[in-house]
Amino acid sequence: MKKAELEKRAQEETQGVMSLLKRQNQMLGQSLVNLDHFLFLNKNISKLHFDDIRKILAEKLPFILSVRYFTLFLYDSNKRILNLACHNHPHLDPGLSIPLEKSGVMHDALMQRRYILELDFTRSKYFKGKKNPLFRNDFFVCVPLMIENEIIGAINLNDSEKGTFSVEDLDFVLTVIEFISLSISNALLHEKTEILSVTDGLTQLNNHRQMQIILKSEFIRSKRYNAPLSLVMMDVDHFKKVNDTYGHQIGDKILVALAVAITRVCRANDSAARYGGEEFLLILPETTIAGANRIAERIRKEFSRNEFLENGERFKVTVSCGVTELDKEHMISPADLIQVADKALYQAKQGGRNRTVTGKWNENAGD
Ligand code: GH3
Ligand code: MG
Ligand code: MG
Repeated sequence: MKKAELEKRAQEETQGVMSLLKRQNQMLGQSLVNLDHFLFLNKNISKLHFDDIRKILAEKLPFILSVRYFTLFLYDSNKRILNLACHNHPHLDPGLSIPLEKSGVMHDALMQRRYILELDFTRSKYFKGKKNPLFRNDFFVCVPLMIENEIIGAINLNDSEKGTFSVEDLDFVLTVIEFISLSISNALLHEKTEILSVTDGLTQLNNHRQMQIILKSEFIRSKRYNAPLSLVMMDVDHFKKVNDTYGHQIGDKILVALAVAITRVCRANDSAARYGGEEFLLILPETTIAGANRIAERIRKEFSRNEFLENGERFKVTVSCGVTELDKEHMISPADLIQVADKALYQAKQGGRNRTVTGKWNENAGD
């Protein structure tokens, strides 16, 4: 081989190595950018409440994934509905819910547990030529959000600055979405446990432990601001007999019906709790004894109109209520309030049941 030819070959080889190096450097650079985005997500969304995760995703996800628009739907598998959880579209109804069957692309992505990437949606079977005027590019990506095999939702991506979307882009998108799925699932589980730990499983009202926390803080607040605070203690009449006659299951239904009546009458700042078996407690801030009496009476009357049906027999159930107001001079702890309400309830029972009795601290003297 001639010298000139050898030199030319060496030059070509050098150029080849140089361009490979350049390409690798670009890839390395991109990996570092991706890593940076990843670290950002890890730091910011891995231990948050879902509401905070939503806000961060709405703000940062398009930038991180280099897309212009995204929507994130959570999947309610009981109702087979997709609920819009976050997005950055300019005109989307935040309460948007779509039955799974109505979205061909999300339906297929979720049911087949795979991403769907199409580069030309004008020819896609999913969109049949319908073009969204918002989108400048014709690609779309739909990725299911999954934890192991459980589906929790879907993310849809549209449009990018560079105008196209490639399989290499998808690699990073899938990794990020896997991470997002994990964070969302953790946050939702955490919220669920938080709710379970303060809620009574049968009635969905506050449980006894949560009631004590609320009562303590309302007690302190009312004393500090010299604001009224009242309690209603409520107990189902002859509930043992109801259970014995119609069964425990119908007994449970009655407790749920009472919780519904309570919830309907209570206002936003009131708190209702299942105090014990068939006893309920209402904590009514900014309410005097007269107001609390009215609320108790409304619940008592509304509830007593319910008719229950068992074995072809129709029957009604009543409740008794004891009401009291915080006496800031004499009551030194939430237990004092409870004690007076309980005594008033006892008097309601003694007086014949199906009634409300109000009680004050003075009347309690000597106890
Ligand atoms: P009173 O009018 O004096 O309140 O009479 P009562 O029969 O309602 O009172 P008692 O305390 O004798 O009985 C309460 C009954 O409530 C007994 C218990 O089996 C029933 N109970 C408590 N918790 C539940 C529950 O979660 N579900 C059902 N079905 N029954 C319950
Ligand atoms: Mg009872
Ligand atoms: Mg009781």
